[in-house]
Amino acid sequence: MLFDVRPKTSIRELFGRKAEYLVFRDALKRGRNFILITGPRRIGKTSFLYASLNELVGDGVPHIVIDTRAATSLNSRYPHRVIAEGVYKALLGRSVVGSVLSKVKGLKLGPLELDLGDKPDLVEVFSLLNRAGSPVVVAFDEAQYLRFSNEDLTRFFAWVLDALQNVVLVFTGSQVGILESFLRLYDGSSPLFGRYEVRIRLPRFNPSESLEFLERGFEEAGRNPNDEELLSTIRTLDGIPGWLVHYGASRIDGLTHEEAIERVLEKAMAYVMSEFRELSRLSPRYELVMKAVAGLSEGIGSARLEDIRETVSVDDRSLRNYINRLIDYGFLEPAGHGKYRIPDPVMYRVFKR
Ligand code: ADP
Repeated sequence: MLFDVRPKTSIRELFGRKAEYLVFRDALKRGRNFILITGPRRIGKTSFLYASLNELVGDGVPHIVIDTRAATSLNSRYPHRVIAEGVYKALLGRSVVGSVLSKVKGLKLGPLELDLGDKPDLVEVFSLLNRAGSPVVVAFDEAQYLRFSNEDLTRFFAWVLDALQNVVLVFTGSQVGILESFLRLYDGSSPLFGRYEVRIRLPRFNPSESLEFLERGFEEAGRNPNDEELLSTIRTLDGIPGWLVHYGASRIDGLTHEEAIERVLEKAMAYVMSEFRELSRLSPRYELVMKAVAGLSEGIGSARLEDIRETVSVDDRSLRNYINRLIDYGFLEPAGHGKYRIPDPVMYRVFKR
């Protein structure tokens, strides 16, 4: 059911994302071992991750997914235990990884063989995984939460990428969250700086895709909403599947179109703000630039670089840097002729206030 509010877990349940899945599969075939799945919240990262990995089992690629929210909610400063347990359980269990490893000669695992203790040795646990002899994916969903760890896990991940040829690391998260705050791929002093990563960005649905998504969802539920309501939903919520699902589920639960939009909008705006907070922490100028663009966009939909510079009062070079980063993270978009716009109507509302 498309309007199921839980993450999807199979390719058959997933709407679209075929090209992104093929990129993922191809990257694994080519032996890439560092893969990032990025996009704003509710775009479908968790769904894409589980659906793709479950499909790839058919190609003989086993996986382990570590839910980093769970890892950090138990002990945000020391998520190692949950990570080690997740991997070790997969090794012991009858999961796909276990069945691959059971074929490794001379490897016998038992609860006593590896005493995980309070401070498990991730190097030891991941080294065991490497003995599978063929690629095993270890995926960290919403990896940005791992940045709260008091030991820098990026050093460990850099070691995995260098030393363990059978372990493939996959991270999902928001652009800002994983690239800037956790993996620090742009930071020359980060252990992961300069690593070759395959980046899979999950884009918003375009208006036709969003319309088809809503139509199919309502059809599955035996409903027949009118076109005007569907168009108004797409215009207001844009192509973020998570929000379209919320809208659909709210309608099915009996809310009117207006009530459903209001409810989803409230949530979506809170999400945008919390996502943007990560960037604001790096510099308050990002917010000033966004506010300037929103303020100047009225009527024409985009703002000129000179006008933004004047409003934010910042030198040209710094402004271009801020704008490029904002474009990189999907908060802004070039609109041609030296103009910029905010592509997401929810985000526009947030900065217009
Ligand atoms: P994220 O991990 O990016 O926050 P989720 O995977 O949790 O997003 O998805 C949010 C909601 O949207 C869930 O209800 C999920 O079922 C739905 N969803 C996301 N992408 C798709 C898709 N491609 N097809 C169908 N439903 C989707």
